[in-house]
Amino acid sequence: MPVPAVGAYTRGSRSVVERTKMTTTRRDLLAGALTAAGAAVTPTLSEATPANHDHDHDHGGEHQAVPSDPALRAKALESVLVAKGLVDRAALDVVVDTYQHQIGPRNGARVIARAWVDPAYKLRLLSNATAAIAELGFGGEQGESMVVVENTPRVHNLIVCTLCSCYPWPVLGLPPVWYKSAAYRARAVIDPRSVLKEFGLELAPDVEVRVWDSTAEVRYLVLPERPAGTGKLSEGQLAALVSRDAMVGVSRVTPAPAGA
Ligand code: FE
Repeated sequence: MPVPAVGAYTRGSRSVVERTKMTTTRRDLLAGALTAAGAAVTPTLSEATPANHDHDHDHGGEHQAVPSDPALRAKALESVLVAKGLVDRAALDVVVDTYQHQIGPRNGARVIARAWVDPAYKLRLLSNATAAIAELGFGGEQGESMVVVENTPRVHNLIVCTLCSCYPWPVLGLPPVWYKSAAYRARAVIDPRSVLKEFGLELAPDVEVRVWDSTAEVRYLVLPERPAGTGKLSEGQLAALVSRDAMVGVSRVTPAPAGA
């Protein structure tokens, strides 16, 4: 597999280097994410308006009662499919709940912890991730072809889907809102260091950043560095430390606080 340069990103066989300087702030990124997700999933906005709120006066355009275009289109599609009897709304809810609450990123965390404690497994994971992940019983839709990329003291990997929201469901569950936002999808490629900084992860200048562009064909998962001081932890305890964000590459794994 070709190794992309600093600030480069890879989508299939293409590798592009972008060096445009961005000045967008974390607030801008999050605002973009919320806009992309639609007002329906921005409770802070909807809850800010009391039930008995009087709408006979001017708010200067601060209300966002109408969901975003993608949210409206998804709702319209669901309504049509349900009306035609092609989809059962309850079945949809079960699928969403399964990925949101029952799978989530815990499967991925188990994969990472196994790689940390079992060098032979780690080698298999890095050479054929799909098969190695299947060893732990995970796989299937949205995870048919997996690639795991390893963070080291000199290399940091970041995952994005620039086209839409391709994401390894069997190991990470459903993608978070910010992952699907236009702001993240564009800026992760153009200026990954600034994006990481806004997530609270500031990388040293000599750390190479590799941005991997997931597609419908290939989904990536980051193998984070095992934190120092965790030598005595069990595999299960290690898995508990691994966050979704670390496996997407927007954060590191940190050891549990003393006494935790
Ligand atoms: Fe996608």
